[in-house]
Amino acid sequence: TKTFDVNAIRQDFPILSQEVNGKPLVYLDNGASAQKPQAVLDAMDRYYREMHSNVHRGAHTLGDRATTAFEGARETVRAFLNAGSTREIVWTRGTTEAINLVANGLAPRLKEGDEILVSHMEHHANIVPWQMIAERTGAKVVPIQVTPEGELDMASFTSLLNDRTRILAITHVSNVLGTVNPIAPLIEQAKKQGVLTLIDGAQAVPHFQPDVQALGCDFYVFSSHKLFGPTGIGALYGRAELLEEMPPYQGGGEMIERVSFERTTWNVLPYKFEAGTPAIAEAVGLAAAIDYLNNLDRAAMEAAESALLQRANELVETVPGMSIIGTARRKVPVMSFKIEGLHPSDIGTLLDQQGIAIRTGHHCAMPLMDFYGVPGTARASFAFYNTQQEVEKLFTGLQKIQRLFT
Ligand code: PMP
Repeated sequence: TKTFDVNAIRQDFPILSQEVNGKPLVYLDNGASAQKPQAVLDAMDRYYREMHSNVHRGAHTLGDRATTAFEGARETVRAFLNAGSTREIVWTRGTTEAINLVANGLAPRLKEGDEILVSHMEHHANIVPWQMIAERTGAKVVPIQVTPEGELDMASFTSLLNDRTRILAITHVSNVLGTVNPIAPLIEQAKKQGVLTLIDGAQAVPHFQPDVQALGCDFYVFSSHKLFGPTGIGALYGRAELLEEMPPYQGGGEMIERVSFERTTWNVLPYKFEAGTPAIAEAVGLAAAIDYLNNLDRAAMEAAESALLQRANELVETVPGMSIIGTARRKVPVMSFKIEGLHPSDIGTLLDQQGIAIRTGHHCAMPLMDFYGVPGTARASFAFYNTQQEVEKLFTGLQKIQRLFT
């Protein structure tokens, strides 16, 4: 039976049991990048010690081992997303590269006057690639409005979805606000109008498991490093029919069927999109992270995460002048905030002196900062290995800063 015991879990993450600036580390910057369990470190170490070779070049045993581990990892990601086939799982460097790949691949479908719907709460990774493609094709990027609470304005969505809309590219979870967007009805409405959908799952997958078939989206993307896996790799789920239609993103080895100076043809899916030697050890590490998560009681984990956010919300009133940015009804444990009279970057520095790591700044979401009229926010983002005691330490730290500096 699967269990969820936060104290036991913390033992699985070696980086957490250290002191920073003379204080026990309280790591609350998981939204930027999460820490890795020993199982991930071991899997990558074992891969390099026992299996490493290039993949898909089969003439020898190590090549077979590496290929088996690499393709096994693809199957693990397929199962994690509940995609129908490993042909629909493309390795990328991360969310950013995945979105660039899709934007580039859909460009041939776009023409002057077409519209790409995004939202006002997107990360730059889900804005800029579309702007670049819009520039090339004459299409336009249109943002769906956000409410002051940090929810998607559904009336804005309905009014903006029209017969010029070609693509809906939207985040599942906001990295700044923690808002969980109601993507199922959005996808459903978009599909009815023949609009393609891309979901940015970067901040969703660390907290819950999506089901791409149930959602019915065309593309779903995420980064390994936020999902307790290594940096340098991520995945793109794409519906096979669309991936077949899309041109390759990069050219080189692996992605071809046959090359001649007269004519080159492409490899089958997913290899058509995987030019060059891939991040093999990283794929193995990501699969180990997913296996690790699969061994936890996910319902208990989600309940524990909600309890962390609830405790944080309760403690806000203990810090004079503190207010939360983003009070959506459905949130993952991410808390952006400001404190009157204090600059976010000073809050970050002063917390760091107490061993508490948060992130401050615009969080790669400048349009959202403009919407709230702030240069940046301070953001605490929790993971399942954080404790109630750590939430309390954050607030004790904030109380201290507020007393000393305002
Ligand atoms: N989208 C969202 C919602 C994110 O939070 C992030 C990372 N902060 C990205 C995209 C980009 O991810 P990466 O830098 O791993 O490509």
